[in-house]
Amino acid sequence: MSKQPNKSLRVVLFGPPATGKSRHSRKLAERYGLERVEPGKLLRENRHRSTVYGTPDEFMRRGELVPDEIVNEIVFAELEGLNRFVLDGFPRTPNQAQSLLDTTEMEIVLRFTISDELIVSRLTGRRVCTDCERTYHTTFEPPTTEGRCDYCNGTLSQREDDTPPAIRNRIDEFYKTTIDALEELRAASAVVSISAEHEFEFVWPKVTGAVEDIQ
Ligand code: AMP
Repeated sequence: MSKQPNKSLRVVLFGPPATGKSRHSRKLAERYGLERVEPGKLLRENRHRSTVYGTPDEFMRRGELVPDEIVNEIVFAELEGLNRFVLDGFPRTPNQAQSLLDTTEMEIVLRFTISDELIVSRLTGRRVCTDCERTYHTTFEPPTTEGRCDYCNGTLSQREDDTPPAIRNRIDEFYKTTIDALEELRAASAVVSISAEHEFEFVWPKVTGAVEDIQ
């Protein structure tokens, strides 16, 4: 039994880049009937929107966090009225965590861990479908046809922030700022730590096991 549409299930996927959050969120959404809320994707869709802080693009290109005011506005508009959702990449600052907990309870936080070396090797070879955002890896998980998505035949490309300097900044932002959001979350939700060093198929049962433990 996996879907109970009336019961709330609010999941945070928390961790540095390249831990498979987006793939887990896609599968969690399918399996448990959850809405996926992905600030990274929402920000890419709004990347040229002009705000008093500048455009999201200016921050994302460098691998820096987009200011809380912009992110919170976009994310909370998406969360309106939802009680079954998976948040992929939010919160990433203590302020975002506090705003989230002021708005809603979260049943579970899945905190993924990974070494910096593996982040760099996963992200430098990562290719992303420009249509559906499914990800591949030039060596570890190549598509069947080079440059084409297996699912939708979209074009695969390298993300602008999957360059060595931007990757370094994203790792630094995680340990400088994002990690502190975990303490805010820990005070209010169950936090389950899962190693993301292994292949997706090995990690996925740990994800579903953790979610089913709190059902
Ligand atoms: P992602 O797709 O989750 O890897 O996010 C890509 C980029 O979007 C990040 O490197 C940040 O620049 C920005 N971003 C995504 N989520 C957030 C967030 N919660 N807070 C601030 N910036 C974010």
